Amino acid sequence: MKKVAFLKNYQLIFALLLILFIPAVLLLHNYYFVKTVKSNMDTEFINKGALAVNIVKNNFVHQWPNYSSIQSRIDEIVKETPEIKSLDVLVPEKENFKIVASINKKNVGKILDQTLNTIAWKEEFITFTTNSSSDSSDQSLQAGDYQSDYRYQMVVKVLKDTNGRKLGLISMKISLAEVDNLTQSLINRSFWTLIGIIVIVLLMIASNFRLFHYVMLFQKLKEVDQMKDEFISIASHELRAPLTAIRGYVSMLEEDETLQSNERLLKYVVPIKLSADRLHDLVEDMLDTSRIEQGRIKIDSKETDVIPVINEIISQFTIPAKEKGLEISLEEPSEEVKSARVMVDVDKVKQIVINLISNGIKYTPQGYVKVVIEIKEKNLAIKVKDSGMGMNAKAREGLFQKFYRVQNDETKKIVGTGLGLWITKQLIKAMKGDIYVDSIEGEGSVFTITFPLIK
Ligand code: ADP
Repeated sequence: MKKVAFLKNYQLIFALLLILFIPAVLLLHNYYFVKTVKSNMDTEFINKGALAVNIVKNNFVHQWPNYSSIQSRIDEIVKETPEIKSLDVLVPEKENFKIVASINKKNVGKILDQTLNTIAWKEEFITFTTNSSSDSSDQSLQAGDYQSDYRYQMVVKVLKDTNGRKLGLISMKISLAEVDNLTQSLINRSFWTLIGIIVIVLLMIASNFRLFHYVMLFQKLKEVDQMKDEFISIASHELRAPLTAIRGYVSMLEEDETLQSNERLLKYVVPIKLSADRLHDLVEDMLDTSRIEQGRIKIDSKETDVIPVINEIISQFTIPAKEKGLEISLEEPSEEVKSARVMVDVDKVKQIVINLISNGIKYTPQGYVKVVIEIKEKNLAIKVKDSGMGMNAKAREGLFQKFYRVQNDETKKIVGTGLGLWITKQLIKAMKGDIYVDSIEGEGSVFTITFPLIK
């Protein structure tokens, strides 16, 4: 169950992937960067090696076979190019090769029988990289100036005279220490950058751990909220049918002549009717709430003259208002109002005005409830005024919130759900209208609803 909830949380998975993705991209980037630099530098050094061989060859061919002047030229070249770690000039002698000039003067006169030289004699040019001092590529390097941590570019080249006759071999080792040091420092730098990024990401994860927890919690709450909405919707529907039956039978009982003459039974019927009506209002409010929350409310707007609609509602409320000793009226509308039309859903406007007038009656102990229709700029304004208990500024703040009820000694005695004004506001919003309230505590309230006029 937990696993499913986690997988459903795409945002969380996305965030985690992003966290892994950033170091991975950096790692790949660094890897290719180092690789490219290394290969570029290798090529550079191979070229450098080839160039050095050419310089050496050009210098040596002119002096051939004056080995002592070749030897002194070698000393000069090595001084100018410290990367050259080994340089031997060899001539074929019987089956082998003899060193006739070398960086390491002790090697002069040594006979070498390495196959490498034999191959080079045939192939004319050999080059490769090595980091071993013990393989056949090693010619005359001595332990002190050879560091096996670094790589060397080995070059063996045939020396020819102007007629193309083979004279001897030049064998060189050029140090790649510079490129290797640079590569190593790049690798080290990218390694520490990566470690730094991983530490930052881990710190971010640690500091946002709560956030992840809240995201999961929010997801869970959303699911629970949805379940609650579905439950309210189903429960309200199920309550509706038996309630309709109860209310139907209660009104039949009220009209029954035998019951009218039986005062004792009549005393029982009145509270049953009141309770059933209250329950009916509650169920209807709950159904409206769940319809609005699930976006299932349908608005069927058409051009409407609101005056007859309001007149009809006022006549519905005449008896209940009178029973409470209140006056209820619609102030004579102006000619301008009479000709005004708005785009609204008539049933929804009825529901809204019924709610405001019934509130007016409910929260007015004495005096009046009056409806006034006016034109206000480009809107039609329907005002429901009462001379009731009113409310202070603080109470007005939360007035259109769900389940909000003003809490004071007077309202305590009046039953209600706190859903009516919230539903009213949502319906008005769905018809592109507006609602606001003016009220003075102890003097009365004015609820104004506005709808854009049709030009
Ligand atoms: P209910 O009437 O069921 O409590 P409503 O959403 O219709 O719920 O109203 C919310 C609250 O606003 C009421 O509890 C009441 O305190 C206050 N109220 C609404 N209409 C009036 C009014 N005409 N005069 C004074 N208070 C009102």
